[in-house]
Order: sequence, then structure tokens, then C-alpha cells
Amino acid sequence: MKRKDALALDRVDPFAKKRKLFKLPKGKIYLDGNSLGVLPKASIVRVKHLVEVEWGQDLITSWNKHGWWNLPQVIGDKIAKLVGAPPNSVAVADTISVNLFKVLSAAVALRPQRSVVLSDSGNFPSDLYVAQGLSQFMDGKVELKIVEPKQIINAISDEVAVVMLTETDYRSAYRHDMQAITAKAHCVGALIIWDLAHSAGAVPIDLMACDADFAVGCTYKYLNGGPGAQAFLFVNPRLQPSAVPALVGWWGHVKPFAFSTDFEPADGVRRFQSGTQGMINMVALDAAMDAWKGVSMERLYSKAVKQCAMFTELVEQQCGEFGVTLYGNRDFHQRGSHVCLQHEQAYAVIQALISRGVVGDFRTPNLMRFGFTPLYTSYVDVFDAAQHLYEVLSKRLWNRKKFSNKQSVT
Ligand SMILES: *Cc1c(COP(=O)(O)O)cnc(C)c1O
Repeated sequence: MKRKDALALDRVDPFAKKRKLFKLPKGKIYLDGNSLGVLPKASIVRVKHLVEVEWGQDLITSWNKHGWWNLPQVIGDKIAKLVGAPPNSVAVADTISVNLFKVLSAAVALRPQRSVVLSDSGNFPSDLYVAQGLSQFMDGKVELKIVEPKQIINAISDEVAVVMLTETDYRSAYRHDMQAITAKAHCVGALIIWDLAHSAGAVPIDLMACDADFAVGCTYKYLNGGPGAQAFLFVNPRLQPSAVPALVGWWGHVKPFAFSTDFEPADGVRRFQSGTQGMINMVALDAAMDAWKGVSMERLYSKAVKQCAMFTELVEQQCGEFGVTLYGNRDFHQRGSHVCLQHEQAYAVIQALISRGVVGDFRTPNLMRFGFTPLYTSYVDVFDAAQHLYEVLSKRLWNRKKFSNKQSVT
């Protein structure tokens, strides 16, 4: 493939006009939208309005006047459309870790006779920590059991209260079979929680088609909500009357402004909100969701599949001799929207790339991760990034002391 072939693909790309909705830094090829999505131009306007008018002038009246109070549900309904969830089943609040605690505590309470929370070794560590914390808090009444990703389906037995998995692996990009695993969990009477951190806005997800019980997900990755933007959670309407989290608060009370001394859960997913949310993040996210108007997740995913395959092919052709290998699944139709490469000097190579304006990230011990976000990643970006990687490796440009100083965030 030549650079002009990549340019030709960009000319007929149906998502090319979406790229204009984002403030892409000049001279950079940004392949880290799977960790922190880029800034949507609409969010700049919206946050400015919030600060100057809503907070600056209207102050407390903004909770009603500018719809702050209902934003968690309003944005929840926008996210719901991207993950196959019905209206009033998704709320936006807190972080994934906190939301996972909420849905996991609600799920184990619905299966009081069972003692196992089942997860896999590919799961994001924070998810496992949350389950360990809950287990300790419950005096070991439930225990976290961790198996290899491919063993999950066979490990789902009738001792399992809850299966808790991340749909797309944050390193290998391996995707679990949501339909089959959810069906197996239900078949033995267990509940399931899906973490969609690397799936929402990246791959087609249909929570209702597979009848998932609960889900959590991120908004600052593929949904471009901004650093620390609130996470989301989904509760299947079938479980909404019975599921109650261990962590509740006044935002989830049926009548928050009655200020009663006793907690009485609100109907629906709203009971999973605990307290006041940061509105600066919230409005930035609300505006960011505009970019998804008219987007078909199937078409978006097919662009991601093409970009992942193209990058891998270019890297393997040019860089194989420099010790780079693909980490994880090669079947691009069965994986998420990022590519992970292994290299002995992964950290230094990523730093050298960043110094040239190509931004990816490092994951321990030797992984280089590149995220493809088809709303704003062009085919030329993909081509050029592979060229930069070739230069860094073939000329050993990574071999400088400053590139191996580890910073706190990698
Ligand atoms: C990014 C990510 C998280 C982040 O959790 P927070 O509590 O929101 O920081 C959780 N789970 C997975 C799988 C992730 O990729």
C-alpha cells in the first residue's frame, strides 16, 4: 500500500465530515482515543456557556433552568442508543469503579444463596479490585474467582452468583462472545455484568438482544466526554424494580427534596445515582454526544476493522525484522478498535513516537497500544503512524536516555 492509496480511502470515507467536529491538535497523529478521546468543538462552546452564564450568572437556578438535574438521564438515553439499551435504562454518574461496586452489590444481593463472583485474568485490574473489596466487606460471603478468558464459559456453574467481564480486553482487544456467555450465565441462574469501557462507541453492542443484566462503561475514551467525565451504568428494565445497590444516596431517592430520614429508592435506573455530579464534565459529555448523530455502529466498526488490519499489515511488512509482533487476536472482525504490539523496548519506542507527534500508549510489561477512533482517525493517519514506527525502529531513534525515564502515567 502507498500513501496515495490511503488518501484515496479518505476521499470516499463516509465519516470524513465527522472529523471536522473535533479539535485535533496540529501536527499530531492521535492514536490514544481509546484512553482519552479528543476534544469535540461543541464541548468548548457548551463548557464556556456553563461557566460564564449558567454558573456565572444563573447559579443555583441552573439546576432547573439549564436542565442540570436531569442530565444524567438525558445523556444516559443518548448513550443507550449506542449500546442497544432502551430509554430509561442507562444513567450517567461517578466512575466505572464506583458504578461497578453499585451494580455488583445489587447483583449479589439478588442471588443470596450463591457465593462466587466469576471473572477473568484479562479483566481490567480496577474491576477485580472492586470485587475483592466487596468480598472483604461481606466477610467472604462472596469470593472472586478468576479464570483464563477462554475458560470462562466452562467455569460458569450453579455456584456462580455473578459473572463480571470486560467485553473488549484493554490489551489484546479480544472480545468475549456476549450472547453466548450471557445465555450460559442465565441458563445456570447467574447474573451478568458487562464492562463496556473499550466497547461503547467502538464496536456494535446490543445489550437487550443478549438480555444482559447490568453494564458499566466509560465516557472519556471512545465517547470523548473529557478527562474524568462521568461513567455510565445500565440496568435491564426487567431488574429495575428489584435491584438496589449497597451504595445509595439522595440523588437516588424517590423524593430527594422531601429530605426524609429513610432511604426509599426511586423507580428505575435513577436509584443507582448516589450524589451530586460535576456539571462541567457533564455538559462537556452532553455536547460530545452530538457527534454520534446518524452514526451506524456497524459502519463505524467496519472502518475500525479496516484501520486495525491496515496498520498491522504495514507494521508487519516493514517492522517485523526489528522485533515487533502483534499481541492478541489476529481476526480483526472479532476484536476491539485498538492494536497492541509487543517490543522489548516498548516504553522507549512509544516515547520516541510521541516526540514525533504520534501518540499511543505503553502497557506493562512490553506492550505498545494504538487506538483507532474512526470518527476522527483518517487512513492517512494510520499510514503515517506506521511510517513513523518504521523510522523509530530502523534508525533506533528510541535509544536515547530521555525516552526511558518512566513517568507516572504511561
Ligand atoms: C478505563 C477502564 C476503567 C476505568 O475505570 P474508572 O473507575 O472510570 O477509572 C474500568 N474498566 C475498564 C475495562 C477500563 O478500560
